[in-house]
Amino acid sequence: MAIIKSIQEKYMKEALTQAKKAYSLGEVPIGCVIVHEGKIIGRGYNRRNTDKSTLAHAEITAIRKASKYTGDWRLEECTIYITLEPCQMCAGAIIQARIPEVVMGCMNPKAGCGGSVLNILENPEFNHQASVTRGILEEECSNLLKLFFTELRKRNKLEKEGRKSLSGFELPSPK
Ligand SMILES: [Zn+2]
Repeated sequence: MAIIKSIQEKYMKEALTQAKKAYSLGEVPIGCVIVHEGKIIGRGYNRRNTDKSTLAHAEITAIRKASKYTGDWRLEECTIYITLEPCQMCAGAIIQARIPEVVMGCMNPKAGCGGSVLNILENPEFNHQASVTRGILEEECSNLLKLFFTELRKRNKLEKEGRKSLSGFELPSPK
């Protein structure tokens, strides 16, 4: 078990490296890698605003790249590592791609479909299910997201204050 966990952490670190690319673009930092026989065959990070596409989620990009690499839409012997619990679209794509193993970092209580809002990954009524591991490098994954949202709030506040002063309706500063 310890060996499995250290392998999972190794690839989750790679997914975090992808998430940091999203962060540096000002995107919500979510990253993903797909591993086949010990080799990373697909990488992705969130580029939704940059690409102006709802399809630019980390997982979709990584699945597209992995399929290009293998020449097959089925990714039957692969493991997908994601820093955040997938949304409904990505959980659906994971099942559609027949990915048998999903490893995730932190959960997404308001939008996750790997057990939070829904559990698309392990639903026995679909013809395929994935086996799911949760909480790998959970703190690192969630801290990166927290940092992003804290900075975003700060930026939004500064912008709001900037707009106020430009519009001439600036509130008197406290003495
Ligand atoms: Zn998604």
